Parts: sequence; structure tokens; C-alpha cells
Amino acid sequence: MIEPIKILGVPVHALTMQESVEYLEGRLQAGEQTFVVTANAEIIMMCQQDASYNKIISEDAQLVLPDGAGAVWAGRHLGYKVPERVAGFDLYCNLLAAAAQKGYKSYFFGGAPGVAEAAKAKAEELYPGVQVVGCHNGYFTEAEVPEIIAAINASGADMLFVALGAPKQEKWLVEHREQLKPRILMGIGGSFDVLAGKMERAPKWMQEASLEWAFRLYKQPSRFMRMMALPKFVLKVMFSGK
Ligand code: UDP
Repeated sequence: MIEPIKILGVPVHALTMQESVEYLEGRLQAGEQTFVVTANAEIIMMCQQDASYNKIISEDAQLVLPDGAGAVWAGRHLGYKVPERVAGFDLYCNLLAAAAQKGYKSYFFGGAPGVAEAAKAKAEELYPGVQVVGCHNGYFTEAEVPEIIAAINASGADMLFVALGAPKQEKWLVEHREQLKPRILMGIGGSFDVLAGKMERAPKWMQEASLEWAFRLYKQPSRFMRMMALPKFVLKVMFSGK
């Protein structure tokens, strides 16, 4: 594995999408568990304020990828080579495509009731042959956690996608990863909503013009306070750096 670059103290592996998928598949085939995080500016900013989350991203995750225009810009601004953005939703889709070809099994955990099932139906349509071996919504009590873990393990899933939003999904994964059998563990935020068509993704041209954040703000104005992390992130990178 390449040496990670550092953005505001957070290690990030500046791989391409293809390299990321190959690395994860290699680890999966070797029987090794990999906890992967796609770190956007918001996550990197959360790490500045939350020491336990910082430890999760900096020490517990085996692979941390540059998600979003902000993370890519920051890496390049700090003088590193960052080949491309590896967005969580895109990595999730690429892993599903690989899973359909190679027969890896996936489990979808998170989202409002019915959303993971709707994402499963869409995944089966987009990636014929893909095996989504179980779904569970993301609104549960602590008492239900053992049952959820048992269901995930009994499903025989190789990949576990967890959509509880950041930082909850990463905290949940780290807390339970020793009991979890899937070899790829990944938090994917609102990706089931996007795949299920409950939430629209920015058009390609906006993604390419690094304007996905503007689209999200336009669609969900309630994200305004959360998205204030972005300009703060830019200023912090400009003034404090690595
Ligand atoms: N969610 C959940 N359980 C919770 C909180 C959130 O399943 O206790 C789901 C929510 O339904 C949504 C996703 O987590 O599908 C969070 O999406 P968001 O876009 O906020 O995530 P981000 O990628 O921005 O972290």
C-alpha cells in the first residue's frame, strides 16, 4: 500500500478508482478484512473536532480515499499528486459491478425502512447477477445490534455497506468489526437513497466542474449548516496545511 498523504493531519491514500477496487478485491480474496472510508472535506473537518473519530479514520481504517472536490483540491494544493476523486457512491457502484462479475456477496445495512431493499432491486437491474444477500434498515435500538450482526454474518456476505451517515456508520463499524465476518466494511452515507432514486445525484457536468456540493445544497437546503464545513475546510487548508 502506498504511503498516505496528509490533509489537516488526516491520512488519505491518493489512489485512482481502479486501484482502489483492485486493492479491495485483492484483500477480499486474501481473506483479509478491510475497513474503507471515503473521506470528504466534511469528514476531514469532523476529525478536527472529534478525537475519537479522528482515531477511527487515522488509525483504524485500512484505506482512506479522497472523496469530493474539496479533498482532491486540498491534496493538490498541499503539493501532493492526487490522481482523481474516489467518491463513496462511485466506489460502492464499482464494487457492486465487480461483485456481479466475480460472485462476491453484499449486505445492505442502513437507510429508512425499505430503502436498502429498493437499492437492492436497482442494483440487480444495473448489475445483473449481483447477489445482495440481506438488507436491514438503519433505525434500530442498541438491543437489536446482536441480531443485526448475526443476520449479517449468517448471510455469508463478503461486503458490508453501511448507510447510517458519517460519523455514525464509521463508529458503528469500528465498534463491531471484530465480530463482523464480511471482509469489506464500508460506510456509504446516503448512497442507498441515491441508488434507489430517492435522492438525485448531481448531473455529470456538475460533478466534473467540481460543483456537486452546490447541487446538494440546492436539493437539500437543510444541509446549509453542515456544508459550512466546506469553506472552513478550504481556509484551514490554506492557512495550516498538512
Ligand atoms: N440513517 C440511518 N440511521 C440513522 C441516521 C441516518 O439509516 O440513525 C441514514 C439516512 O436514512 C440516510 C443516511 O443514513 O440514508 C445518511 O445520509 P447522508 O446523506 O446524511 O449521509 P452523508 O453521506 O452525508 O454522511
